[in-house]
Amino acid sequence: MQTLIVTGGARGIGAACARLAALKGWAVCINYRSSAALADALVADITAAGGRAAAFAGDVSDEASVIALFDSAEQALGPVRGLVNNAGILAAPRRLCDIDLDRWNATLGTNLTGSFLCAREAVRRMSTARGGAGGAIVNVSSMAAVLGGSNEFTDYAASKGALDTLTLGLSKEVAAEGIRVNGVRPGLIDTEIHAAAGDAGRVARLMPSVPMQRVGTPEEVAEAVVWLLSDAASYCTGVIMNVSGGR
Ligand code: NAP
Repeated sequence: MQTLIVTGGARGIGAACARLAALKGWAVCINYRSSAALADALVADITAAGGRAAAFAGDVSDEASVIALFDSAEQALGPVRGLVNNAGILAAPRRLCDIDLDRWNATLGTNLTGSFLCAREAVRRMSTARGGAGGAIVNVSSMAAVLGGSNEFTDYAASKGALDTLTLGLSKEVAAEGIRVNGVRPGLIDTEIHAAAGDAGRVARLMPSVPMQRVGTPEEVAEAVVWLLSDAASYCTGVIMNVSGGR
C-alpha cells in the first residue's frame, strides 16, 4: 500500500478524493485545519471498510506545519508516494478594488504558498534523484483560473492561475525523477466552500451558466484526481483537466 496525503481532506472534494483513493488501495493521510471530528469520522469509515488511513492537523500555509504533516504521515503509514494539494479558501464576493491586503495574502497563502510548500516536501521525499521511489502530485485548481473571477474573487482566481503555472513548471522539472505532476480544474461543485464564503446561493444562481445545466459533485472531481494519481495515467504529466460540465 502506498501513502497518499490529501490536504484539506476532511470534507468536500478532499474527502471524496480520500474515500476513493482508499478504495483504490492507497493508505490515506487526511490533513485538516479545523475539522477534526470530520477527519476522525472519515478515518473510521475508511478503516471499517478495510482501508488504511490516519488524520493529522496542519496549516498548509505554515512551513513547519507542512514538514510535521509529512513526517507524521510517513511514521503512521509509510513513505509518501502521492499528494493531492486540495486545501483551499475562498472569501466573500468583492470587486478587486475592495479586496484588502490581508485577504489577498491569506488567499495566496493557503491556495498557492500552501501548495508550493506541500509540493516541495513531496518532491524532496519522492524524487528518485534524492533516493525516493517516485510518485504523483495532483493540484486542485479551479475554472476560475481561466475565467478570471471578475467581480467576485480575482484574488482566488489569481491564486489558481499561478497554481496551474506551478503545475506546468514542476511537471517538467521532475519528470525524469519519477514524479508526475498534474492538475484538475473543478467548475461549480456542490460543497460548503460557497456558504463558507458567505454566498450560500451561489450554486443555484450560477447553475444556468453551466452547459450541462447542473452542479458537479465532489465524487466526480475525485474520479479525475484519483485517475491522475494512478498508474493508468502513467504517461500523463503537466496535464490540467477541466471537470466543469463544459463551463
Ligand atoms: P471546502 O469544503 O471548503 O474544503 C476546503 C478544505 O480546505 C477544508 O476542509 C479546510 O479544512 C481546508 N483548508 C483550508 N485552509 C487550510 C489550511 N490553511 N490548511 C489545511 N487545510 C485547509 O471546499 P471544496 O469545495 O471541497 O474545495 C476543495 C478544493 O477545490 C479547493 O482548493 C477549492 O479551491 C477547489 N475548488 C472548489 C470548487 C467548488 O465549486 N466547490 C470549484 C473549483 C475549485 P478544515 O475544514 O479542516 O478547516
